[in-house]
Amino acid sequence: MSPLSWVEPADAHNARLVSNVHPIDWKNPTPAPCYNLVVIGAGTAGLVTAAGAAGLGARVALIEKHLLGGDCLNVGCVPSKALIRSSRAAFDAKEAGHFGVRGTAPAQVDFPAVMERMRKLRADLSPHDSAQRFAGLGVDVFLGAANFSGPDTVHVGGKTLRFKQAVIATGARPVQPAILGLSETGYLTNETVFNLTRCPGRLAIIGGGPIGCELAQAFQRLGSQVSLLHENEHLLDREDMDAAALVQHAFIREGVALHLNATITRVERDGSGKLVFYEAQGMEGRLLVDEVLAGAGRAPNVEGLDLESVGVQHDSHTGVVVNDCLQTTNPRIYAVGDVCLAWRFTHAADFSARIVIQNALFLGRKKASALTMPWCTYTDPEIAHVGLYERAARERGVEVDTYVREFKEVDRAVLDGEADGFVKIHVKKGRDEILGATIVARHAGEMISEISVAMAAHVGLGKLASVIHPYPTQAEAIRQCGDGYNRTRLTPTVKKWMGRWLAWQRR
Ligand SMILES: Cc1cc2nc3c(=O)[nH]c(=O)nc-3n(C[C@H](O)[C@H](O)[C@H](O)COP(=O)(O)OP(=O)(O)OC[C@H]3O[C@@H](n4cnc5c(N)ncnc54)[C@H](O)[C@@H]3O)c2cc1C
Repeated sequence: MSPLSWVEPADAHNARLVSNVHPIDWKNPTPAPCYNLVVIGAGTAGLVTAAGAAGLGARVALIEKHLLGGDCLNVGCVPSKALIRSSRAAFDAKEAGHFGVRGTAPAQVDFPAVMERMRKLRADLSPHDSAQRFAGLGVDVFLGAANFSGPDTVHVGGKTLRFKQAVIATGARPVQPAILGLSETGYLTNETVFNLTRCPGRLAIIGGGPIGCELAQAFQRLGSQVSLLHENEHLLDREDMDAAALVQHAFIREGVALHLNATITRVERDGSGKLVFYEAQGMEGRLLVDEVLAGAGRAPNVEGLDLESVGVQHDSHTGVVVNDCLQTTNPRIYAVGDVCLAWRFTHAADFSARIVIQNALFLGRKKASALTMPWCTYTDPEIAHVGLYERAARERGVEVDTYVREFKEVDRAVLDGEADGFVKIHVKKGRDEILGATIVARHAGEMISEISVAMAAHVGLGKLASVIHPYPTQAEAIRQCGDGYNRTRLTPTVKKWMGRWLAWQRR
């Protein structure tokens, strides 16, 4: 199968993408006698491992069976965020009247143009992950499916590569939901949805996690009538409940049809459409839609690597088993990114790769548990989080004090018309130590880094209150949480002595 058929449509943008991330005329190099590092998989985790190791002078082979750049560039972060940006423009145009801006006609979404913009931007970003760039960095790039063929060898495309250390960076893929009739009727996943050139009029999305929610809101804003079916009581149920509730309200306001506590029982073809049968809250229902999109979980890519033959333990749900130093049960083999981590994010893949470079090549003892890991779900409003949730703290028996600032009390958010949201910061009880935070705001992902920096640098909330934030900005909400913390330092005794001092001054 030609790599050109892996992304559709066959236009100039996708041809440019493929020429970078899986050139059809690529010739695999002659393997070196032995590599310091053989990296299997060239998504973010593999690319960062290979580039970093080669930059430090290691002899590195990087193997990719599909498209370099992996999920993030090709079928994940990049295309989804491009679509989300267009959908926000559509939403803002629709809402412009609230800001006193009126056009003569309602804004129209040109879906083919939205998708073409996405394909162009994806191709524009692809040189960074290209085979040519990595070859230029001194990495031997092999295109083909790899598997372990001996205790210190990997097999790819009829060639055997010998390694001192190897890294498994094979990522994850969408889980195929076990729903009667779904495979037969056909459905979209993140691997195919970005190939669309026509907007599905009616779209059922399975799964109210981050991927399902981001795409549900984007497609609703781009013109689909979206029905979102989720098995639990709330969307985004791993997030802070108050945060998830705000996003859920936004979805309802925007017309996304929510079916919570829903179990899909079967899917059938109905003329040119698809019938989705489900049960929710004891009732049976059915939806007639044009397309079904499954965003119901990710499974690690552990198959076909012959991991058993090299003593690498793995699990089909949680992936390759690693210790805190990201070493597998075979001490010569490490794992990075989605294939082994509970955090399935591009930045987690990136930073796990940095740990592995040091541990595998330089006898390092860097630990994944030492990372301060933020994340963000790019709905509108966004939910960004770092550190512990309140409930996780409780489960661990850690007592916390929580400081909340709602955006309706923050001037800039009010002026922006973005007053729905809050900053919530958890501090260890009795200590000025930030343990975690959640922000719900249109640009929460941009704001969370301030708290991540504070946590990583052991800067307390009291100190954040003394950092001058420009007025008016939404980030003032963080400083105001700090003010709230400092007010609690004012004990009755201190207050009493201050009162006496001021009374004495007035004599
Ligand atoms: C729709 C969507 C949106 C997302 N949005 C965000 C976001 O906004 N922010 C964020 O941080 N994260 C986001 N993510 C998650 C992010 O994409 C992943 O966490 C990240 O891509 C993981 O990188 P990785 O290198 O571990 O795996 P991957 O990117 O999956 O790369 C693994 C690579 O290994 C290759 N491979 C597998 N088996 C073999 C083999 N046997 N031989 C050779 N090669 C092999 C695969 O072809 C693949 O290219 C999103 C994911 C999805 C699906």
